[in-house]
This record gives sequence, structure tokens and C-alpha cells, in this order.
Amino acid sequence: MKICRYDDQRVGLVQDSAVLDVTPVLEELGRFGYPLPKYDPFIANLQSLKPKLEAAARRGKAIPLDQVKLLAPVANPGKIIAAPVNYAKHLQEALADKGIHHGNLVNEIHKAGMFLKATSAVVGPGEGVKLVHTDRRNDHEVELALVIGRTAKNVNAAAALDYIAGYCIGLDMTIRGPEERSLRKSPDSYCVLGPWLATPDEVGDPGSLQVSITVNGEPRQDASTSDLILGVGELIAWGSSFYTLHPGDVILTGTPQGVGPVKPGDTMRARIDRIGAMQVRVS
Ligand code: MN
Repeated sequence: MKICRYDDQRVGLVQDSAVLDVTPVLEELGRFGYPLPKYDPFIANLQSLKPKLEAAARRGKAIPLDQVKLLAPVANPGKIIAAPVNYAKHLQEALADKGIHHGNLVNEIHKAGMFLKATSAVVGPGEGVKLVHTDRRNDHEVELALVIGRTAKNVNAAAALDYIAGYCIGLDMTIRGPEERSLRKSPDSYCVLGPWLATPDEVGDPGSLQVSITVNGEPRQDASTSDLILGVGELIAWGSSFYTLHPGDVILTGTPQGVGPVKPGDTMRARIDRIGAMQVRVS
């Protein structure tokens, strides 16, 4: 199942090149009072809602995909956990290029740990990236993103895939410079998630996916998740040893070699096997 959010907070199932409107199913979630939950209610209930989503899709209006504005597939992620240097070749390029490392100590993930991006940075592909500090280098980082489906704490890597609601493409947009990552990677729109949530049955083994991005048609990054230093299961295990992971939490698994700058007017096109492709404008 490929589940998207689009236009004015609508929800759809993606089939071929159409979106089938299933928004009425959201009424099943009921109403939430203050304080709001720390998890995403739609993602938390996704498993039990699947038959209703399928039924609604049979009745739902079909809209061509190219006519909708795609939003991030998770409306209310509680946190965005990101892996900084999780491909060996990206570590090598970061160490070799002062424009990337800026004198910061760059270590592979075992030493660097993980970091958090602000949830206010999340946008969908249809919303685009609005750069700030355009006098500095602003880079694309394409990454496999996973969305947690149920509460996870101290999960072991072998069991970790059972905690995944689905996968999407993540763009960990980054201002290069000397400051902490969480500052440079969290401006509004610097976390693009899309084009939709692909459930685990669509994706199969997350350790064998080709991940790529072009900018204005020029190839930039193209690598396989088989080169991840810490795989998807290990990242969930490690993350859940620090934080309780809640439904809707997102883990960005790290970017491969080939990061590079973007500027206003550029168009990025990112793709991951068995998930899909998305186009994102930069302004
Ligand atoms: Mn990254």
C-alpha cells in the first residue's frame, strides 16, 4: 500500500498514476483534546485501518497524481532522528572537502551518534524547499527514511523491522558550516518527506534499495542501502536504546556520497527503488 497526504490535508492511496481519495477514513480516529498525543494518531492506527482504507479506495474519487500537491506522508512526527555519517564513501568525501566538514570533527556513525532535526522542518515534495542563508553552501542529502509504526524501546535489531509502518524518501537539506547539525539542518522546509508512505510489503528488504537524486537532470547521488554502515534494524535498535520511539517518529538513515549544493531555481528529483520518485523545487 502506498499512502499519501495531499492538497488540503487529504489522504489518498496511490495506485498506478492516480490518487484515490480515502480522507473519510480519518473520521475513525476520533477527536483529540489538549494535551495532544506524542505520536501520530493516523500512523498509530494504520494497521487496523488498512481494510477501511482499501474499501474507501474502491469508492474514492481518482485524481491524476500530477494534479495533486503532495504533502509529507506523516502529519505529526514526534521526532526526526537522523544518522550523520552512515556510508563509508560519504565519510571519505566529508573528510576530504573542507566545504563539507568546516573543521568539525567528522566521525563515522558509531562515534558520531545520531542527531535530531526539528519537526517544524518537515514539508512534502509539493511544498518545495525554501533556502535560508543563501550566501552559504546549501546541500541536498537524499536518504532512505523509515516511519515507526508502534512504540519501540530497547528493541533488538533482529526484531526491529516489525516496528516499521513504512518507508519514504527523505531529503536532509543542510547548510554547511561550523555550527551544530541540528541548527544547520532544521530551518523550515529542510526535511522533505515523500512522495508517500510505502508499506513494508511493498518495499521488502530495506537493505537492497538503490537511492538516487539528480539536480536539474544532472546525476548527483546514486548508491545502494546495501552500503549502509548501520542498517535499518540496527538504527532502530540503537535509537530505541536512547529514546522511546513512537508511531510516526521518522529515522533518516544517512546519505551516501555525492552530496552537493543547490540554489534557488533548481529542481531536485529523488528516487528510491520500490518506493517511488519525487520532484522538489528549490526557491
Ligand atoms: Mn543526512
